[in-house]
Amino acid sequence: MSLDLSSLNYAQIDAVTAIDENILIIAGPGTGKTQTLAFRTAYLIRSKDVSPASIIAITFTNKAAQEMRERVSNLLCNECNTADIWIGTFHSLGLAILREEGHRVGLRPDFLILSESEQIELVKSVLSDTLPKEPLIRAKRWVQRLSERKNHTFSSQSVSDLPDILFSAYEHRLEELNLIDFDDLILKPLILFKENPEVRDTCRNRFCHLLVDEYQDINNLQYQFLKELSGPAASLWVIGDADQAIYAFRGANVKHFLKFQQDYPDVRTIALKENYRSTRTILTSAQTVIAHNSDRIPHTLTSSASTGLPVHLLQAANDKAEARLVVKEIEKLIGGIRMESSFEGSDSFGFNEIAILYRLHHISRFFSEALKQSGIPYQVVGGVSSQPDSAMEYVVPFLKTLLNPHDDLSFSAILQAMDNKFDRTTITQLLDLARDREGSLYQIFHSPKIDGLLDPYRIDSDHKLLSFLHRMQKEMLAISLRELIATICQGLNLNMPLEDENHPWWFLLTEPFSDGPAHDQLPEFLETVALLKEGETYNSKAEAVTLMTVHAAKGLEFPVVFMVGLESGIFPCTEFGEGPSDLEEERRLFYVGMTRAKKRLYLSCSQSRHLFGENREAAPSSFISEIPPEMITVVPDHKSAKAKKIPAGKQRSLFT
Ligand code: ATP
Ligand code: MG
Repeated sequence: MSLDLSSLNYAQIDAVTAIDENILIIAGPGTGKTQTLAFRTAYLIRSKDVSPASIIAITFTNKAAQEMRERVSNLLCNECNTADIWIGTFHSLGLAILREEGHRVGLRPDFLILSESEQIELVKSVLSDTLPKEPLIRAKRWVQRLSERKNHTFSSQSVSDLPDILFSAYEHRLEELNLIDFDDLILKPLILFKENPEVRDTCRNRFCHLLVDEYQDINNLQYQFLKELSGPAASLWVIGDADQAIYAFRGANVKHFLKFQQDYPDVRTIALKENYRSTRTILTSAQTVIAHNSDRIPHTLTSSASTGLPVHLLQAANDKAEARLVVKEIEKLIGGIRMESSFEGSDSFGFNEIAILYRLHHISRFFSEALKQSGIPYQVVGGVSSQPDSAMEYVVPFLKTLLNPHDDLSFSAILQAMDNKFDRTTITQLLDLARDREGSLYQIFHSPKIDGLLDPYRIDSDHKLLSFLHRMQKEMLAISLRELIATICQGLNLNMPLEDENHPWWFLLTEPFSDGPAHDQLPEFLETVALLKEGETYNSKAEAVTLMTVHAAKGLEFPVVFMVGLESGIFPCTEFGEGPSDLEEERRLFYVGMTRAKKRLYLSCSQSRHLFGENREAAPSSFISEIPPEMITVVPDHKSAKAKKIPAGKQRSLFT
């Protein structure tokens, strides 16, 4: 029985059933790209008798991969074991290859993946050794340059003025610590393929169909990885939207998408033009904004949805007032606590149908506080880097130390967690001593001579830490991962509530690892944490309003979207030294945010904001003025207007 494609439109069916070798699907937001990929996978298995094990479907996040597997499974009425299909991110695919074949590129079998914060620490320590005059505060910049360098390993383009001495010292430390960084997850398999063509050929022989979602955001290494994986007999099926390319700051390069036709001359290009997500007003508004980008291939999108309501604009005098205004609107939307008669439209929405999106994570605080005050349930979605969490910063290194006590990076992180008893200078001294003796920090802590180096105050902490570590190493053989984490938090005095809904966002990640003793679950759990990308903790089933960055909202959709903090300097963001060339990327990000909305889109801004320790006055984002004025309605804010009147001229200038 072949797969039922009757729910798809003609272009989607064309994309699902195409028999050409290389297929490029260019499609705007909400045109069913992700859905079409799921259908294509199911179609190959059901209607074309393709073996599930010979299909790779690459998604942007691991969470998207999980959802994709469920969709394919449903399409196949659960009659086929979808576990055999390789569905995952480029990074998880690279990791799977390295776990099996990594020894060929010098990896020890139990290597771990360096987290972002560990990478910064490592670079700091390498900087002090190699470029002692370089301020440590610039470590993050060096991390980026290291990444750029790796990203261009096989390209002729010369990049970044990264001193070789720094690069080799960094690589040497990684090797010593038995760690690999995120870029290595793609770079090392590539090297492996080049040095061992037979391994590459085994992969090529296995995978005949390679499908890639969000192709516009692949970077140079991923591009080459894909090229290596797709042998002469393979079919490459990629789908994306150049207008939604938003990861240039992580090395993604939309050029690969734009020149796919040159790279694969026999390519068949299919366009999906029908948007199924948004009202016509939302779609047209978003299209008008993105049309301001010059570096794009113009294309049209159609929609058979209704016109819907205008885009609502909320303007507040200050950040707190903005949050109050947004929460007041949410109260109306959820069916009317303090319902006002002026409210147009009779729909009411569930908490989980509403999202608050922002450019910078720092802004979320005002909204979570206002929601809490109103008693509205909410979830703040964070990734490892966007939402630093002290418990995670220390618990994860502790878990890593349990597995490998000689991992100096993790060991020094837990030393810093010890009520600040070990400052950076002491830790650096201890690390130097360890290096002189060609040992690890852990070994230094076991040597009797250490007592001479530490004052009694620290010796006491040191003894306590070691005995605690040893105790945990024994206990993890018997207790569950959750119990282990709870005990560590207690032992390190990390004030982390683990009961009820109050637990930190990342604690949810332990759920699939509840069987058996922690010791057996730890390696895989740490891998999950290491591969985590921003937005992956989003729980669509939670009865809660969702707060997340626009980056994290990629690929998602919500009936109601509030885009908040829309002020110049924040969105478009100039906080991180983004120059004018990034304006187009910021606009694409704005476009991604707007096109997440199905029925209602609210934009909000504040005249003044407390951010990064200072009060700032700001004009509304220039992107708001790119929306056709007739598509916007301003929501009056009586309370704020009384507190600080917004000059009428300023308001009007948005729409003229
Ligand atoms: P994005 O660019 O944001 O990733 P997308 O192109 O991947 O979007 P999907 O998320 O796959 O779009 O689909 C958007 C919405 O449109 C979903 O709710 C999906 O169910 C719906 N949809 C897709 N195709 C059809 C169709 N043929 N008929 C009805 N609804 C559809
Ligand atoms: Mg999608």
